[in-house]
Amino acid sequence: MSVARQLYQLQETDLEIADEEGKLEQVVGRLGKNAVVVAAQEKLDAEKKKLEEWQHQQRSLEGEIDDLANKIKASDEQLYSGRIKNPKELSSLQHEVELLKAKCDQLETKDLDIMDRAESVEAGVAALSRELEEITAEWQREQEHLSQEKAALESSLNDLKQQRQVLAAETDSQVLALYDKLRKNKGWAVARVEQGICRGCRISLPSSELQQARSGALVQCGSCSRILYLP
Ligand SMILES: [Zn+2]
Repeated sequence: MSVARQLYQLQETDLEIADEEGKLEQVVGRLGKNAVVVAAQEKLDAEKKKLEEWQHQQRSLEGEIDDLANKIKASDEQLYSGRIKNPKELSSLQHEVELLKAKCDQLETKDLDIMDRAESVEAGVAALSRELEEITAEWQREQEHLSQEKAALESSLNDLKQQRQVLAAETDSQVLALYDKLRKNKGWAVARVEQGICRGCRISLPSSELQQARSGALVQCGSCSRILYLP
């Protein structure tokens, strides 16, 4: 195998390694990130808090209604006990009872309204709970898939790196140093030659360079310095 061909293979391996490493980085970046689940949980928590507030309002209102009902009952009893003889006192008590009843009606209407609101928030809580369950299940499936992908990428990277080691070991150390230097400076070190053109810089190569490269010698492009490879 010519040196150029060997280096070209090394480059293909390096490109593949870089590609797989990029994919691995993306997968690792997505592993353990559960922003969607957290957002769904926060939405549910906020709705639950709203429900608690309505329920609290409802309880305190119902306590008020109970108190009023007791007061009305006591006043009613007093009113019909026959103990109060003074007509003025009687009518004032009657008036008081009427006011209490009106107030009680008002609170009961408010209570119904709060019950309605609490019910609709309760339905919201149920819907958000289901949503959270679905999102969590979906997330778990995705995480499982990502874990598998990560394992597959790691295994393939392992193979590629071994392959690279073998190729590098077979290459002369000075040539390898040139390859590494070019790769560092140019991104990639070996350029294919197609129809007499260096694919690294798209310059037409002089026939002397082409001939040398064809003979299997290590030739660098006069323009971009990349190692020329004639497939
Ligand atoms: Zn070139």
